[in-house]
Amino acid sequence: MSSKKWVYLFSEVEQAEKYVGGDWEGVRALLGGKGANLADMARIGVPVPPGFTVTTEACNAYLDAGEKFPPEMWDQELEALKKIEAQTGKKFGDPNNPLLVSCRSGAKFSMPGMMDTVLNIGLNDKTAQGMLKLTTDERFVFDAYRRLIQGFGAVVLGIPDESFEDELEEYKKQKGYKLDTDLTAEDLKTLTEKFKAIVRQHKGFEFPQEPLEQLRMATEAVFKSWNGKRAVDYRNAAGISHNLGTAVNIVTMVFGNMGWDSGTGVAFTRDPATGEKILYGDYLLNAQGEDVVAGIRNTEKIQNLGKELPEAYKQFLEICAKLEDHYKEMQDVEFTIEHGKLWMLQTRNGKRTAKAAVTIAVDMVNEGLISKEEAILRITPENVDTLLHPQFDAKEKANAKSVGRFYAHGVNASPGAAVGQVYFDADTAEKMAKENHQDVIMVRPFTKPDDVHGMLAAKGILTSEGGATSHAAVVARQFGVPCVVGAASIRINLEKRTMEADGKEVKEGEWISVDGTSGDVYLGKIPTSAPTLDEQTDLLTLLKWADEICATPNIRKAPKGWPTRGLQVWANADYPADARRARSYGAVGIGLCRTEHMFFEPQRLPIVQRMILAKNHEDRKAALDELLPFQRSDFEGLFEAMDGYPVIIRLIDPPLHEFLPSEHELLEEVIEMRVKGEKKGLAEKEALLANVEAMHESNPMMGLRGVRLSIYMPEIVEMQVRAIFEAAANMTLKGINAKPEVMIPLTGTVNELNWIQPRLERIAKGVMQEKGVNFPYKFGTMIEIPRAAVTAGEIAKVAEFFSFGTNDLTQMTFGYSRDDAERNFLVKYVEEGILPKNPFQTLDQEGVGRLMKMCVEEGRKTRPNLEVGICGEHGGDPASIEFCHTIGQNYVSCSPFRVPIARLAAAHAALKFKGTKIAEDK
Ligand code: PEP
Ligand code: MG
Repeated sequence: MSSKKWVYLFSEVEQAEKYVGGDWEGVRALLGGKGANLADMARIGVPVPPGFTVTTEACNAYLDAGEKFPPEMWDQELEALKKIEAQTGKKFGDPNNPLLVSCRSGAKFSMPGMMDTVLNIGLNDKTAQGMLKLTTDERFVFDAYRRLIQGFGAVVLGIPDESFEDELEEYKKQKGYKLDTDLTAEDLKTLTEKFKAIVRQHKGFEFPQEPLEQLRMATEAVFKSWNGKRAVDYRNAAGISHNLGTAVNIVTMVFGNMGWDSGTGVAFTRDPATGEKILYGDYLLNAQGEDVVAGIRNTEKIQNLGKELPEAYKQFLEICAKLEDHYKEMQDVEFTIEHGKLWMLQTRNGKRTAKAAVTIAVDMVNEGLISKEEAILRITPENVDTLLHPQFDAKEKANAKSVGRFYAHGVNASPGAAVGQVYFDADTAEKMAKENHQDVIMVRPFTKPDDVHGMLAAKGILTSEGGATSHAAVVARQFGVPCVVGAASIRINLEKRTMEADGKEVKEGEWISVDGTSGDVYLGKIPTSAPTLDEQTDLLTLLKWADEICATPNIRKAPKGWPTRGLQVWANADYPADARRARSYGAVGIGLCRTEHMFFEPQRLPIVQRMILAKNHEDRKAALDELLPFQRSDFEGLFEAMDGYPVIIRLIDPPLHEFLPSEHELLEEVIEMRVKGEKKGLAEKEALLANVEAMHESNPMMGLRGVRLSIYMPEIVEMQVRAIFEAAANMTLKGINAKPEVMIPLTGTVNELNWIQPRLERIAKGVMQEKGVNFPYKFGTMIEIPRAAVTAGEIAKVAEFFSFGTNDLTQMTFGYSRDDAERNFLVKYVEEGILPKNPFQTLDQEGVGRLMKMCVEEGRKTRPNLEVGICGEHGGDPASIEFCHTIGQNYVSCSPFRVPIARLAAAHAALKFKGTKIAEDK
C-alpha cells in the first residue's frame, strides 16, 4: 500500500487539487490558506521562493496520535527538502553553501496571533561561518543568527520573548545605542552568545545546532500551536472549527537585508480604506520583514520603490495586477527583494473597510473582473449598515478610552454615532433641540409611546433598561436614531437630573457620545463622519444591481399566482417625510403606516381624548369629524410621496387607554388637589379618572384593541377609511397614482372581517362615487394571531392581502410578552442556548416561521395571487428576509433606514435560492 502523502512541494498543487477532488476550498483546507496561495502563485508563474507544505492532515494525525508524527511524514519532509536543495543549489546544514528556511504556520482561515514565524532555520555556528564567507557581511550573518535564536527560543522553546528583548535593550543601553541599526557586527556576535545563554538558562540544554533537529522541532511547534490557548480562544471568538488543523510551510529564506539593492515590504493592491485603485503599502530597503511591521525604522511609501529599484518595482506592479486578475479580489501581499531579485512571500484577500468593499466590488464589475452577482455577494448587510450611519473614528474612540472617558456599555440597539447634551425627559429634550438648536441625547431608564417626540428630536438615545426590541430600540431603529439601551451600570436620578456610572456623574446639559454601533457610551464629544446615501454613488450602483437581481423573472420557481421574481422591499412609514425618505432609500411601497402615531401629535391628542371619552354618538362623531381633515392631509402626503406605489394604511390598533393619561398619575393628581383643597378642575379630573378606571383591562395587549376595537367602536375606523379614500381621490384628481391598501389589524377569525370589512368597503366605494374617481385599492389584514395563521384559507376569502405582524405573532406564538421577556429572561435564554437568538429580532423559523409558511400556502389555495408581506421588526433582518423569500412572500417592509440593507439581503436570498422550487402546485 502506498503511504499517504503528507508533504506537497509548492510545485505540486495539481496533486493536491486531485487529492481533494478539484475544489479550491479543499486545497485551502489541506494546505492552509498561506500554503495553498504560495503554491498557486508558483503555478501562475509568480516568483515564490522554493518550498513545501506539510498538510493539515499531518497536523491532525500528529495531535490524534498524542503528539507523534504520522508514519513517513518526516521522511517526506526530508525528501522535499532535498528537492528544494536541488532547486536552489544550496544544501541544508552545508557550511560551504547553506540553505536556510523559514517555518510558518498556515491554517485554512487566517488566524492572526496563532504562531509567529521562525526565520533562518539552518543557521548554526558552522553554517554561520559559511554564510560569512559567501556574503562577507558579518553584521548580516550574526543579525540573522541572533534572530533565529530569539525566534526559535520564543516560538519553539516557549521562552518568554521579553527575556531576549530585555537583554537586547540592556545591551543597547550599555553601549549608548538608540536603534537596532546602531549595533555593529561585533555587538551582534556578542548578542548571539548571550541569546544562547538565555536558552541554556531557561531550558537546561544548548540551542540545537543540528539543522534537521531545528526543522523537526519547528514543525512540531507549529502542530502544537493549533491547540495553544491563543489559537483556541481565537477560534472560539471567530467561530472557526477546532478540527481543521494547521499546515506548516517551509520556505527558502530570501533576504531583504543584503544591502541597498535588497528590501522588503507589504502592500494592498488597492487602498483598503477607500477602495481606490492605487497600490497602498510600505517598504524598507536593506531590512527584514519584521522591521517593516515593527515600525522600528520609518518605512517608505511603496510608490518610491519605483525610483530606488525601478526594475523590481515594475515587476512588482505586474505581479500585483496578475494576482488581482487571478483571484479577482484585492490582494494583501508581502514581498522581499534580494540583490534586486523580487520574491513574493504571501498573498491573500485583503481586509478592507465597508466603504472600500463596496467601491472595490463596483470597480471590479466595471473592469470586467467579476459579475454583478459576485459583487452583490461580496457585500454584507453589515457593510451597508455601517455606510449609512454616522460613525466615530476608531482612533478617536481609542484616544477617549485611553484618557478614561469610557462611560458605560449597553445593547447596540440602533447603529450610528451620536454626540449631544444629555436631557432626562422628552419635553426638555425636544425643547432644547427645537428652540435652542442643541444636539440632544435623550436619556431615560426606558421609553414609552409618549416619549416619541423627544426621541425624534434627539441625535441619540440612551436607556439604562430594556433590550434590543424594547420601545426605545424599536423606535430608534425605525427613525434611524443611534441608540444604546440597557446600559445597566448607569443609575439615573430623574429628580436630581443626573446620571452616574462607574463613579462618574453626568449632569443634565453635559456632553456625551453614544455609539449605537458598538453599544459604547463616552463622556464628552467624539468627532463623527456622516455620509448620506446620495453621496455614496458606488453603494447606489450596487443596490441598483441588487434590485435588478430581485426583479429577474423566474428567479423563484413557484406555482401559478405566486411571485416568481425576488422580494420587493417596502417601508414602514407613518408620515410623508418618512415616505419620502423611504423612496429615496429605494422602497417601492409602504407596508405599514401606523395611523395611531398621528393621534399622538400635540394638536390632535386632546381631540382624540375627547373622542374616546364621548358620552354619546354625536359627541364622538363631532370629535372624529375634527380629526378627519388631519388624517386626510397626512394620507395625501403619503400618496403623493409614493406616487404609483402601494401604501398600506393600518386602521387603529392600540387599546384606547394609551391615548389617555395614566390611571396612576391621574390618581396622584386628584389626591393632591383634594389635599390642597384645589377645587378648580377637580371635577373634570375626577371624571377623567373614573373613565380611565372604567377602561382598565388586566391585559390590555390582549384586550380591546385592533379589529376588536373597530367592531366595538366602528366610528373611528369608518372615519379613517373615509380619510384614506378622500385623500386617495383628491390625489388621483391631481394626477397622482394613489394605490391605497387598507389593513385591518389583529384579526383572529374571518368572522371579524366579515363583520367589519363590508362596512368599510361601502364607505370606500361611496367616497369614490362622491368624488367621481376610480383607483385601485385593496382590503386586507395583518396576521398577528396564530389562529389567523392557522385559518388563513378562510381569512383569504375576505382579505385581499396578508401582512405578517411578526412582533405580535412572535409574542403570541411563544406566549411571551415582548417587553417582559426582554427585560427578564430572554438574555438568559439565549445565553443558556434555550433559544438560539432573540426571536423578536430574528424570526423563529421552526415555530413562528412554520405558521407563516403554512399561512401563505393555505391563503394562496383560496386566493392564488394573494399579496403577502411582513411588517414586523423582522422585515429588516437579513436572516428573516431570506426566510420570507423562501416561503414565497411578495415583499418585506422595514424602517426606511433599513431599506438599503433589506434590498441587499433580498438579492442575497434570490441568488442563494436561484431556481429552487419554493412550493408545490396543488
Ligand atoms: C407587529 O405586530 O408585528 C406589528 C407590526 O404591529 P405593532 O408592532 O404595531 O404591534
Ligand atoms: Mg402588532
